[in-house]
This record gives sequence, structure tokens and C-alpha cells, in this order.
Amino acid sequence: MKAKPKFETIAIKSIENRFKSSEPVSTPIYLSTTYKRNNDGSYANDLIYSRNDNPNRKILEQSIAQLENGKYAFAFSSGMAAITTIFQSLKTGDHIILPNDIYYAIKKLMQDVFKRWNLTYDLIEMTNINAIKKAIKPNTSLIWIESPSNPQLKISDISSIAKMCHKNNIKCAVDNTWATPVLQNPLELGADIVMHSSTKYFGGHSDVIGGCIVLNDKELADKIKSIQLLSGAVPSPFDCWLIARGIQTLHLRVMKQTENAFKLAHFLDKHPKIEKVYYPGLRSHPQHLIADKQQKGFGAMISVLINGNEEESFKISTKLKYFTAATSLGGVESLVEHRKSVEGKNSNTPANLLRISVGIEHIDDLIADWKNVLSF
Ligand SMILES: *Cc1c(COP(=O)(O)O)cnc(C)c1O
Repeated sequence: MKAKPKFETIAIKSIENRFKSSEPVSTPIYLSTTYKRNNDGSYANDLIYSRNDNPNRKILEQSIAQLENGKYAFAFSSGMAAITTIFQSLKTGDHIILPNDIYYAIKKLMQDVFKRWNLTYDLIEMTNINAIKKAIKPNTSLIWIESPSNPQLKISDISSIAKMCHKNNIKCAVDNTWATPVLQNPLELGADIVMHSSTKYFGGHSDVIGGCIVLNDKELADKIKSIQLLSGAVPSPFDCWLIARGIQTLHLRVMKQTENAFKLAHFLDKHPKIEKVYYPGLRSHPQHLIADKQQKGFGAMISVLINGNEEESFKISTKLKYFTAATSLGGVESLVEHRKSVEGKNSNTPANLLRISVGIEHIDDLIADWKNVLSF
């Protein structure tokens, strides 16, 4: 091939990566969807096609596995995609026990999608071990824990529930989004599966949607991997890169946010315009001792009941200066949300409940902000 290639060919070949052997300190974003096959038919680093695997995803998954002390981790394009994958690993006819205070979209996923696929479920008060025991059926294959729960911050005793699961040959899954691996490691408490919405504290800057699953069981890991690959709800390399970047400051952020939330919760708890504060760090919280035992800190989420009606409660959420009225949580900026009006008609969240995601701003400003709006 001596002839000089023509313009069109140069345009393609001339931009080939010439920096492969350099070692950038910060991981580049590998947008390539496909990887060159070796002459012997193998692939370097087993990278074939980006739905199967991708350097940014591999790095993210291996990081999350280590943070949760698990053997296998899988990243998804959203928390809901991770949850859907766990449900898809079950078989039709299986029964699931879900918390009655579960993240509302999971309940909707069961009703709108998996009910048709003949997965049955019961919504149970997960702070009551006897209620869970009573709900177990011969075909129960999964018990789902969300602790702290959304939005009422109920705490479930993970190790007791996991023990009961294993006695009955049931898998125990924990949605660990609100606690983060900084404060709680469910696999160490006996759970089989940990799930996160990495949209929240992992990402930490309200700019990326993602989810993940961590587990130790090889057989289940193979099943999850196969669903991830074949149903294809994988995160983009850029999403993985953003979440991996967030992980570098996860500990710093969560510690600061938790410290701020602890102080704000105690301030709100004493305020006459606040009817009730849901925060596991308060001694008055019904599962305070369990939270103290299984968590390394009480987290950065607070819910409050306003001493007022729905309209007044909603209004407060729009008047705060440093708490943006928006859904989601876990970012560096403080957010507040009137939860019932977001969850819709069938929500059993109290009409005067506001959910607060505490950020990393200065605590004096955050407390002054609430003091100001509550002086109505
Ligand atoms: C946000 C959230 C989810 C869903 O995650 P997405 O990333 O929005 O799909 C699930 N569980 C909890 C506790 C959450 O806060």
C-alpha cells in the first residue's frame, strides 16, 4: 500500500489515538463504543463493546464494590434501572416484602410493571420484626429494606431482618441510598444485596443520574451481569466518570452534610412552628438506638411536619433562601421538598411534611434561613 491515501481516508485515520501509552493521572473519558480485537482473537482488558464493559464503568464498579466491601458491583443508568434489574432476577410467581414507606417509584414499578409479570408483594411496617415474620409466604424470595426510609426516616434493624431472611431461604436487599457507604455497610450487617441511587450522594452535585448494585454471591452476580448486558440500562462513560469523580469527595461531603443536618434537626426540634422532626439522630426517634448501632452517623436527610396546613407547609418550602424547592437529594446544595404533592394522589405522606436534604453550606446560614421563614 504505497499510494498516499485520499482526503476522506486521511480524515478518518489521522485522528487515531496516538497517546495510548501515556499515563494520565485523571482517568480520561473513554467514549469509544468498540475496541480492537487482537490477532489471536482475544481483547485487551476484555474490552469488546461498551454495553458489555467500558473502562470508566469498570473503574466505577470496582470502586463501589470496595466502598461497600462486596465482591461484585454493577453500575446502571439510574437507581430505578438497578432496582428493576434486581426484580428481573426473580422468577414469576415470587413474592416480595417491601417497606410501607418505600421510595414511591418502586411501589409504582411493582404496580404498573411487575404485577403484570406475576410478581406479588406486600407493603409491611419494617420496623416491626413480627409483622415481617407474619408476612413471609412459601414463595417469598426477597425482602427489601430501605433504611433510613424515604421520606419518614424509619430505621430497620438490618442484621435481625437479614438473619430472619436466611433462616427462610430469602434474599435480603438494602436500598442504602440515604445512608451511603460512608455511614452504613449492609453487606457487613448480613444483607445479600446493596443498591444505591448514585444520582444522590455518590454523584453529589445534582448533575448525573445513576444506580448500582453490590453483592457477594457469584450465582446472583452472573444473573445481574447478564441482565445488565442484555437489557442494556448501562450508564454512559461520562456518567460513570462524573460519579467516580463524586466518589473522591463522598466522605468529606457526607461527614459535613451529616454534621449540618444533626445541628439543624436539633434546632427544628425545639421550634414551636415545627410539629415533629423525623431524624434518627434525635433521642426521641423511635429507632434511635438501632440507627446508633448500625450507622456510623445519622445522615443528612431530615423530614419535618409543619405546624400548619398543606398550603402553609408548601409555602414555607418556596420561601427559604438557601434551600431550593426541588426534588432529589444528596447534592452539595441544600434542597427542600413538599413531598405529598410530588408523590401524587395515592401518597400516604402527611400533607404538612417537608423533606430536607442538607448541603455543605455554613450551618449558621442554614439555621438563620429556617428561623426567618418560620417566624410567620
Ligand atoms: C432517588 C432514589 C431512588 C431512585 O433512583 P433514581 O436514580 O432516581 O432512579 C431509589 N431509592 C431511593 C431511596 C432514592 O432516594
